[in-house]
Amino acid sequence: MSADFDVDLFVIGAGSGGVRAARIAASYGAKVMVAEEYRIGGTCVIRGCVPKKLMVYASRFADAFADSAGFGWTVGSISFDWTKLVAAKEKEISRLSAIYRTNLEKAGVTFVESRAVVEGPHKVRLLADNRTIKARVILIATGAAPFLGPDVPGRELAITSNEIFDLAEQPKRILIIGGGYIGVEFAALLRRLGSEVIVALRGENILRGFDEDVRCCLRDALIESGIAFKFADMPKKFEKKGKAIEVTLSNGETFEVDQVMLATGRHPNTHGLGLEKIGVRLDGVGAVCVDPYSQSSVPSIYAVGDVTNRLALTPVAIREGHAFADTVFGGKPMAVDHSGIPTAVFATPELGTVGLTEAEARLKHAVVDVFKTQFRPLKATLSGSAEKVFMKIVVDGESDRVLGVHIVGDDAGEMAQLLGIAIKLGATKAAFDATVAVHPTSAEELVTLHTRTARYEQVMLDPGEAAALMDEERMP
Ligand SMILES: Cc1cc2nc3c(=O)[nH]c(=O)nc-3n(C[C@H](O)[C@H](O)[C@H](O)COP(=O)(O)OP(=O)(O)OC[C@H]3O[C@@H](n4cnc5c(N)ncnc54)[C@H](O)[C@@H]3O)c2cc1C
Repeated sequence: MSADFDVDLFVIGAGSGGVRAARIAASYGAKVMVAEEYRIGGTCVIRGCVPKKLMVYASRFADAFADSAGFGWTVGSISFDWTKLVAAKEKEISRLSAIYRTNLEKAGVTFVESRAVVEGPHKVRLLADNRTIKARVILIATGAAPFLGPDVPGRELAITSNEIFDLAEQPKRILIIGGGYIGVEFAALLRRLGSEVIVALRGENILRGFDEDVRCCLRDALIESGIAFKFADMPKKFEKKGKAIEVTLSNGETFEVDQVMLATGRHPNTHGLGLEKIGVRLDGVGAVCVDPYSQSSVPSIYAVGDVTNRLALTPVAIREGHAFADTVFGGKPMAVDHSGIPTAVFATPELGTVGLTEAEARLKHAVVDVFKTQFRPLKATLSGSAEKVFMKIVVDGESDRVLGVHIVGDDAGEMAQLLGIAIKLGATKAAFDATVAVHPTSAEELVTLHTRTARYEQVMLDPGEAAALMDEERMP
């Protein structure tokens, strides 16, 4: 390291992307410092994926208790204690956060508890002690924060996903605004934990950007579970009424709830970071614009993870952080491939998806074959539950390559992970068909689904329709 700098790398943000980048850069011999203004581990560990999935598990016991009767069980009276769950969750995320800290220390990274701002291409200020650090390279890994949507009267009464994890009491009645994956996941889990749930959203369906069939399938299952949807209806105002909040919707309807949660998207965390002042180019929502190697318009400043608004998922942030460190400190230039990334929506039923939606495939390929099935899983035969599994395989009709798979049902996320490998390897539908089933499973339908549901030949859409559809299918 040159004597002009205090560190080789200064990372702002100890979340998924920042921690990975710091550790890998340090493993290449770089002198690394990381600043975190909240809790080490970032969104995923503290108030995202991990605590959410723990709550999803908690919620699914409701189905297990109900289903068990058909299998001969008699379950005594059941009750759920929200505060116990919150406390158990807190214990686990504190444990994980401590592991993150230990791993950074073991890697020789210096960790600072402070907000950091950028004051020059090589200059960072730590607000906790007003120290200035000179860094050869600065990595912005500040993530994203809930976007609060339109400033309707009383909006300050609402919470976001940041607060929901630590509420002192489970809301008996909750209004969730937004039909993206976070809104949908919390609606599903709170409903199963016994809350009355209303979801209001701008559009006519949940999960914009996902395949149309799985959107409809999951929406119907959520309605069946007792969630009330207000489609194309957004709140006009919120008013405090005793301990409750009175909501007025755009159609004039009013009702009371105990909590309102805004799940109206997330925006990159660049506000007040000082980036614009030093010429780092940001896009319309404040995301740092980067090249495939995560380099910003200022050569010494890079950015990874949600703050770049490429694909806001933990494994993507980790991948980008790792690739950045390989590129800049490991002498191994590495660009992240953002195509074919499998993902899940942890509602109940679960949604798993990888590759192109049918609409995307029909825009990009001359001939598209679609295979679909919906069936009652074996477990439902004895449990008597109304659950169904839906599966859809989208295939390039010319090359026979599987372009996308979309599933709603138990373990759909687990299936999506493995299907992601097959799709990365360019598997054909013939290869799916040649694979022997694991019986009895739901996943076996993926290799026994021989009858084509539809074939779409070229020029299905004119350019206007195509553009409109692309807009509709944009990832949230
Ligand atoms: C409710 C919810 C559920 C989610 N579920 C999933 C899921 O199931 N699967 C999945 O893949 N993804 C999920 N995500 C998304 C995932 O959490 C993010 O994509 C991931 O955490 C992004 O990592 P990151 O490193 O970019 O940012 P983050 O993990 O957000 O880390 C950024 C860190 O920077 C800190 N910071 C910000 N500004 C400063 C500053 N100026 N100085 C110092 N520190 C600063 C923040 O406090 C934060 O700790 C979920 C997100 C939410 C909100």
